[in-house]
Amino acid sequence: MNKAATTCTLLAAFFVCSLAQGQGKPKLVLQITVDQLRGDLPTRYYDRLGDGGFRYLWEKGIVYRNAHHAHANTETIVGHTTLATGAHPSAHGMVGNLWFDRETGFTTYNVEDPNYCLLTEGADVDEDAEIDPTQRAARSQGRSPAAILVSTFSDELSSSTGGRAKVFGVSVKDRGAISMAGHSGTAYWFSKASGEFVTSTYYLDQYPDWVKAFNKQQPAQRFANTSWNLLHKQRSYLFGESDDREWETDVAGFGRVFPHSYGDGSSRYFTTWLTLSPAGDKLVLDFAKQALTEEQLGADAITDYLSVSFSSTDYVGHVFGPFSLEGEDNILQLDRTLADLLAYVDAKVGLANTLIVLSADHGGPDAPGYLNSLDIPAGYVDPESWETDAAIDRIKKEFTIDGKLIETYSHPYLYFSRDVKDNDSIDREELESMVVEELSKFKGVSLAVSSAALRRGNLPDTHLHRSVVNNFHPKRSGDIYLVFEPNWFINDFDGLKVAATHGSPWNYDTYVPIVFAGAGLQAQTVDRKVHTVDIAPTLSSYLEIKPPSGSVGVPLREVLQ
Ligand SMILES: [Zn+2]
Repeated sequence: MNKAATTCTLLAAFFVCSLAQGQGKPKLVLQITVDQLRGDLPTRYYDRLGDGGFRYLWEKGIVYRNAHHAHANTETIVGHTTLATGAHPSAHGMVGNLWFDRETGFTTYNVEDPNYCLLTEGADVDEDAEIDPTQRAARSQGRSPAAILVSTFSDELSSSTGGRAKVFGVSVKDRGAISMAGHSGTAYWFSKASGEFVTSTYYLDQYPDWVKAFNKQQPAQRFANTSWNLLHKQRSYLFGESDDREWETDVAGFGRVFPHSYGDGSSRYFTTWLTLSPAGDKLVLDFAKQALTEEQLGADAITDYLSVSFSSTDYVGHVFGPFSLEGEDNILQLDRTLADLLAYVDAKVGLANTLIVLSADHGGPDAPGYLNSLDIPAGYVDPESWETDAAIDRIKKEFTIDGKLIETYSHPYLYFSRDVKDNDSIDREELESMVVEELSKFKGVSLAVSSAALRRGNLPDTHLHRSVVNNFHPKRSGDIYLVFEPNWFINDFDGLKVAATHGSPWNYDTYVPIVFAGAGLQAQTVDRKVHTVDIAPTLSSYLEIKPPSGSVGVPLREVLQ
């Protein structure tokens, strides 16, 4: 045997050996999700981004510029669970932030679970100060991932390593952390009531010392007597001349113009104000860094998983609109937060040893007022007025319905009343099709689809219908699925009027970034249309483990090359 052949044999043996020992795999998978980060936002203000944040990802990573969610109800839990599982909501079951449970007869919040209460006393949702109506709708204060019907990538990573991979999910929102940590990991989120990071008894019996120490410092209080100030000079901003717009929401005195004061920390809305500004992301950043160090993530040869979901962009989008001075500054501040996180991961684990993926649970529309100012049609829909509409009245007479026909519209589903459900003499399919026909004529409604049509699958093969089918779960979906016209949506959150709301199958809501970086990946830009269901199977293929149980995505070849 010559020398070259000997070297080859030795090298081959080394590689077989290395793979068997788990080397060559990343030490850490870092999944970053930015709530409501529409695909155009990371590069919209590129000239003013710093180094190491979006610029690192966009210049060193594999950037998919035409990535979309393929389901119709582009809401937080729906998108997060899709990112985590590679499955559509029709399989993972998270069809909306809320759904009506036909077995219990009550509205259900996606991650509520009466079996697992919060591990911190006084951390339950404060009904009086909570501005998120889906949180208020929960009947239980307990939380767990029990309603996620398939495995997540993080579950598969855990099971492939005999439970030795460490798996963590962190977010301001419970649903942003729980969905990504899956069934096997540990989720921590921010309690607005207690101002601390908390979990439930599903995950832990008691907090590790480092979490106790972190909370003992009262992390939120460092923002007391400070304000959300602009990062740069106001005149350098695209929206610098238009801070005070009439469609922006003043949440309990937080105001519509800079500086947005957090007050002295004594207001019951103090922690809420933090979450609807860059401070919320900074709290998550601090906790995620602590988790990385204290749990020794990425410290050994077994690949660990950390999900960090940043929520401020979502709240800012709802309250001020994505294209607002607040929205612009929030992106520039998020860029600094990302740079901080990536620098920390680099120092602890090394970006070369970390496979990073960044995406979003959904995009978001611009505020109708902003669009109208540019002569673009947009507006708000009011389903409350439908019950008394002449057309619905005619249907009620025809089916001799004495009480209400519509129980509620809980996005994106319309639900029939008990009077209808309990009345066996009503031909439900006939009623559904008549209501669908009338609703389709209402101002702001683009498409109405009956559950009978969804169950049977006899629908036109259009992009819009496919996205509604991807969202359909027979046990959890409502009676009629409604798609509003582009840029038309409900802005009334239980009395709180917001600037803009996502949740449609239109491009501004489905369009999100997908970027893979670190782990020696070569920079590349891809314009092929890809979907968010592709992320989880890509991670599985990369690590040579089986895809999550309901995954239907296609592994992205550029990442695997
Ligand atoms: Zn949202």
